[in-house]
Amino acid sequence: MRQPLVAGNWKMNGSRASIAELLGGLKAGIGQVTAAEVAVCAPAVYIADVQSQLDGTSIKWGGQDVSVYESGAYTGEIAGSMLADFGCHFVIIGHSERRAYHGETDEVVAQKFTAARAAGLVPILCVGETLEEREQGITEEVVGRQLDAAIKHCGIAMVGEGVIAYEPVWAIGTGKTATPEMAQAVHAFIRGRLASNDQAVADVVRVLYGGSMNPKNAAELVAQADIDGGLIGGASLKPDDFLAVCSAANS
Ligand code: PEP
Repeated sequence: MRQPLVAGNWKMNGSRASIAELLGGLKAGIGQVTAAEVAVCAPAVYIADVQSQLDGTSIKWGGQDVSVYESGAYTGEIAGSMLADFGCHFVIIGHSERRAYHGETDEVVAQKFTAARAAGLVPILCVGETLEEREQGITEEVVGRQLDAAIKHCGIAMVGEGVIAYEPVWAIGTGKTATPEMAQAVHAFIRGRLASNDQAVADVVRVLYGGSMNPKNAAELVAQADIDGGLIGGASLKPDDFLAVCSAANS
């Protein structure tokens, strides 16, 4: 039995004031969410604030990216040990926005996965196809390649210590959600690819769906056999919406 996980990806949004308000709302409502694990992934500069406001609650927190390096002359980079120093549990790796705007390759993403694990963080590895790739019928080829790169570089046992997030790029921030059946098909493919490397890993790894998931569509998505929760962008910025998604996953 895999514990559902709902993780918010705040992206580059918020201020100290708005984050305090958001966290206040989450803390007030999170008591109803007893079965699902819940986390928020904050912009790096706000992680200390998030730590001080969430410490002692059931809500975990994390970063949105990590350096492949441990320390040194890498201006602007943030090491896994730094995220761990501020109590981060999770870190998002290979989000499509980082792949698209920061040139992160499958190889770099795999290195980041290793760096995160070396710091004791749980990586949330994002995979997913663009609209063009879906229309070309190469979704499985793309997602399989992204997953294989991590398995090849990190080994299946290490991949088993992380979380996978299937995020069709065409569904992120667009309001277009994959239908539950479309998402389930790719999630089943991901689990099958993990199983072909190690059945025990495939049985325990959580595969989240991400892409315009919201209170209206969350229940149907998480009802699918291979969808173990969500990575939530826009809806994670509103406490009531995020809590509603958490409640949908809370079984
Ligand atoms: C995301 O960016 O990880 C995401 C899922 O965004 P949204 O929910 O806004 O589509």
